[in-house]
Amino acid sequence: MFQVVYPFGSTDCMSLEITHLGSGSRGNSILLQSDESKILIDCGFSLRQIESRLAKINVSGDEIDGVFVSHHHGDHSKSAVRASKKWGARLYSNLETAIKLGIRPIEEVRTFSDLERIQLSSDLSILPVPVPHDDAENVAFIASNGDGRRAAIVTDLGEPTVELMKHLHGCEHISIESNYDLGRLMSGPYPPALKRRISGRGGHLSNEQTADILSEICHPNLSSIVLCHLSEKNNAPHLAESEVLMEIEEKFNGDLSISLQDGPEFSHWLGQEDSISVRNIV
Ligand SMILES: [Zn+2]
Ligand SMILES: [Zn+2]
Repeated sequence: MFQVVYPFGSTDCMSLEITHLGSGSRGNSILLQSDESKILIDCGFSLRQIESRLAKINVSGDEIDGVFVSHHHGDHSKSAVRASKKWGARLYSNLETAIKLGIRPIEEVRTFSDLERIQLSSDLSILPVPVPHDDAENVAFIASNGDGRRAAIVTDLGEPTVELMKHLHGCEHISIESNYDLGRLMSGPYPPALKRRISGRGGHLSNEQTADILSEICHPNLSSIVLCHLSEKNNAPHLAESEVLMEIEEKFNGDLSISLQDGPEFSHWLGQEDSISVRNIV
């Protein structure tokens, strides 16, 4: 049995809560909750898994207002269509992703364009920002609360773009992939073509690239960072963490956490430095 531990007075009005339900090549999903809206960013586990993970933090699928899909790869979209239908939640993706998922625009999905702000309620809006990823029209998401405070969710990209960096500046929370350690990838068992694809422009971010991005956009109000989508074969939490800390230690005073495949593990609130554990209390 699990328990969410809420700190007293941590949730001022207009707060935005970010809970990682799990992240990695076997599935990704993040729950965003404001006072007025609850949405999932990606739905890459089976429907049963998603519902079970939500139940551990006392959220029912029926409470979810929207499901945003970053791109069509199964680890991000697996049960998105089924979940949105079952829960009566609106499905959101860009047109290319909708086509690749075989769903009908307008009838089954609300399609968005790059950089089109979607206002879900007075205290939550979402901005999709295109990022390079092989064979997929992938987007990162910038979530804003009603006070103009922002959180970023960035996975599955080979390199950052100027546009993305612009939107990451000033975010108070950043969830970003730290997919592989370059040394482990290159000395590992993958065939050369796959190594090139992963480390190429349309692949994933290495620990070093992620550290460089965070170093560039780090600012005094950046209160929490979550490293996610770590490769189980080509990375390890201590490698990702040490690479990032080496770059940002002197300028970052917030909480650095790592989201792995099995969640939910913790929640963050915009503007709050400490993560709150979603602890196993058996
Ligand atoms: Zn992925
Ligand atoms: Zn992908």
